[in-house]
Amino acid sequence: MPFEFSFTDEQEKFRRDVREFIHNEIMPTVANYDKLEELPIENMEKMSKQGYFGLTVPEKFGGKGLSKIEYGILLEELGAICASHGTILGAHLGLCVTPIILFGTEEQKNKFLPPLASGKSIGAFALTEPGAGSDAANLQTTATADGDDFILNGTKIFCTNGDKADYIIVFAANDKSLGPMGGITAFIVEKNMTGFSVGKKEKKLGLRASSTIELIFENCRIPKENILGDIGAGFMIALSTLDGGRVTLAVGSLGAAQRALDLSVDYLRQNQGEGGNLSNRQSIQWKLADIAMEVYASKFMCYNNLVELEKYYEIIESKEKVPRQLRDRVSRGSAISKAYVSEVASRAITTAIEIQGLTGITAGSELERGFRDSFIAEIYEGTNDIQRMIIAKELLGLGL
Ligand SMILES: Cc1cc2nc3c(=O)[nH]c(=O)nc-3n(C[C@H](O)[C@H](O)[C@H](O)COP(=O)(O)OP(=O)(O)OC[C@H]3O[C@@H](n4cnc5c(N)ncnc54)[C@H](O)[C@@H]3O)c2cc1C
Repeated sequence: MPFEFSFTDEQEKFRRDVREFIHNEIMPTVANYDKLEELPIENMEKMSKQGYFGLTVPEKFGGKGLSKIEYGILLEELGAICASHGTILGAHLGLCVTPIILFGTEEQKNKFLPPLASGKSIGAFALTEPGAGSDAANLQTTATADGDDFILNGTKIFCTNGDKADYIIVFAANDKSLGPMGGITAFIVEKNMTGFSVGKKEKKLGLRASSTIELIFENCRIPKENILGDIGAGFMIALSTLDGGRVTLAVGSLGAAQRALDLSVDYLRQNQGEGGNLSNRQSIQWKLADIAMEVYASKFMCYNNLVELEKYYEIIESKEKVPRQLRDRVSRGSAISKAYVSEVASRAITTAIEIQGLTGITAGSELERGFRDSFIAEIYEGTNDIQRMIIAKELLGLGL
């Protein structure tokens, strides 16, 4: 059996349509949203109309019912033009909608998925706390049982879409004595719940058009209908969700890297550098070739990982037991893709800036924004140090 990866004709058409939409509707606006540090509400509405906010949601819940490959294509194309837009969509669809599809009850799916799929409601995911970023198991937000309900107390930070979100997947410790596996529960928090409030908005180096928000829980009562999955299963839900989040983050970085390569090639074909034709210089050619090699490898890595992710999520959704080997392969593959491709994007953009010189570093230029944005991909959804830790521990059979 030959080993081959290629996109179907439908997927190629999907990419062409997405690209045309993004180039016409999104691209002309992105520099301004970045400058104003403002959520691109109008663009989000346009993206909703295209069905992007419900792309992977089953059709019976109002989504497009497309696969992780189309989701990857969409995030790759968004990543090429504006990582903030990819981040907004990824937090909504990958980190909020996906765990509801995977772990929600039929009642939860019927209630939450249709408004989320249409984009009328926006989703978010709140795991990180002041003392629980890399050490995500060290949650201090508590969930105290009160009859069938739970009462949440604590503070989450750096929650993407947190100010705009209608529904947020929130993780809290229900029993610290049990440790993370058994002692953390996931909840679907609704924005109007008493005791929930939105705190400060972070000012960031990059991804300035996506909002990053503090969330405060003061005796916030969560009815049992809003518990996601089993009590105590929250950490497993977070890890499975992040397995998908990381590879889709990687595919956004792939888009950014490819774009930097394309901009460099265009620049070299069109411009004579100071002191002669730059494209004839071997040092420049080798930089380009290095980036082209890394982009080529990244593409296979990301899409192969997305195929595995699709299988992995199908098994979780069917409530069958996920084979240990598949879970480990997906976790390691996602960690490898996230760390490798985010660093490829940073190298590609740095190289493009080196080639363009003054044009590349000018504030407001596409490459300057890309440089600020791409670095953040090395940090969020688990820093690249943490990805390396996951990869090595899995290789050595040390467990997490
Ligand atoms: C733009 C943006 C959006 C975000 N969106 C969300 C969101 O929607 N939801 C959410 O829950 N979180 C979100 N986050 C938070 C993000 O996931 C965390 O920033 C990330 O997990 C790192 O945590 P930290 O920043 O607290 O770093 P720290 O944990 O404080 O780490 C600091 C440094 O120490 C290193 N380090 C820590 N522990 C180890 C170790 N054991 N071994 C080796 N090195 C280590 C790290 O690699 C890093 O270099 C977002 C962050 C950003 C920047």
